[in-house]
Amino acid sequence: MSSKILQVPDKKLRVKCKEIQIINKSVEKEAFDLLEALKEFDRWYFPVNGLAANQIGLNKRIVIFRTWSRQSITMINPEIISSSIIFPSLEICASIPRTLRLKKRKLLTTVQYQDLQGKIKTLKLFWISSFTMQQEIDHLNGKLIID
Ligand SMILES: [Zn+2]
Repeated sequence: MSSKILQVPDKKLRVKCKEIQIINKSVEKEAFDLLEALKEFDRWYFPVNGLAANQIGLNKRIVIFRTWSRQSITMINPEIISSSIIFPSLEICASIPRTLRLKKRKLLTTVQYQDLQGKIKTLKLFWISSFTMQQEIDHLNGKLIID
């Protein structure tokens, strides 16, 4: 278990993270730290495919998201701009040890975000990728799978 990842009931997991106005060197460094923290979960049986900045104590809207092809994407100010089809999702969270929760998620989502160059991008997500994204956006709003 990583020591960097905050665990419940840490209050930092409950903050609504702030939108990033300017992507500067310190944001780049924080995004890198978040990516490194995510990599520490590569040995888990259940893959952890996303991590939100407040899970390492940063009060900013940054998410690292892993695609099906194991590519890690840094998302600044990610936002779900559309979603559809309610679907059950059995979820774990790196911040809540030994816990599985059945959630109602959307099967399809479209997320919009900025990359580290400030360029606006959109990504269409399906199934587990879509569920992961919804959990990460919840994190940025201080919401956890146990809620
Ligand atoms: Zn989580």
